[in-house]
Amino acid sequence: MINGRTQLFGIIGNPVEHSLSPAMHNAAFAALGINGVYIPMRSIDLREGFSGLRALGFIGVSVTVPHKVAVISLLDEIDPVARKIGAVNTLLFQKQPEGRPLCKGFNTDWLGSNQALAEELEPKGHTVLIIGAGGAARAVGFGLIEAGARILLTNRTESKGRELASQLGCPFIPTADLPTIQADALINTTSVGMAPLDQALPISPELLANFPVVMDIVYAPLATRLLQEAAARGCRTIDGLKMLQYQGAAQFKLWTGKDAPGAVMRNALLAELGGR
Ligand code: NDP
Repeated sequence: MINGRTQLFGIIGNPVEHSLSPAMHNAAFAALGINGVYIPMRSIDLREGFSGLRALGFIGVSVTVPHKVAVISLLDEIDPVARKIGAVNTLLFQKQPEGRPLCKGFNTDWLGSNQALAEELEPKGHTVLIIGAGGAARAVGFGLIEAGARILLTNRTESKGRELASQLGCPFIPTADLPTIQADALINTTSVGMAPLDQALPISPELLANFPVVMDIVYAPLATRLLQEAAARGCRTIDGLKMLQYQGAAQFKLWTGKDAPGAVMRNALLAELGGR
């Protein structure tokens, strides 16, 4: 029931129609009896949209493509790991006794990916091969370093891969050298395998046996071909919805101070995905 005391949350980006976050957060508010609502807001002009959020008393907002980097210049404060990653996906507006609310930016994608991986393998002290060098790879990579993992990185476009690897301080592995690589886990951070190109693979399937744990951050389809090929070779697998769920849980905790209802969020995500 929306009323005069309803707390405002949402997501800004362009597009936002595809976002699963409204289903996840609204289900969590309902489960915990929180009088809050989470709204998708397509925002073309970030600066104007951001002023509006602050003026209207929003408490927490997710930020998605294309605003994750540009929003940094509008913040009052930024979390140190989000600064290293160079992207913010979470805003927290804090009311002040006087004056306008302060806005602090965070990145919860790295928390989500570490927690998802930890379902099968604690990152600390283990070696992880990251495939990809885009925005998601940055969050996953810096997150793994925060957690004390060793990383290796490979990417289709070598120049982009080498650049990110040097920022992460990790070795770059050219595609031709992948057959020589073994690691405790592999994480696909590319969009390869996402519908409609869901038969594509980011790595040759015969190499998957070299990685006891295989995680995909693509979640549509949920059982990507990569995860199917990995499971067929005896690897333990982690689907892309886990990262989405755990990054959302970290947002929920920042915004409400409460532990997120994990099963409620996962079921809401599955129902939303299944309904599409
Ligand atoms: P970017 O566009 O920033 O990066 C895309 C990456 O995918 C690059 O490394 C690119 O390689 C690679 N790539 C794209 N097409 C191909 C191809 N045909 N063959 C080989 N490599 C390819 O995207 P993001 O990093 O923002 O997102 C990547 C994926 O992660 C998306 O599917 C997104 O939905 C998903 N994601 C999931 C999240 C979750 O919570 N589960 C969170 C964030 C993202 P190159 O440099 O060679 O172009």
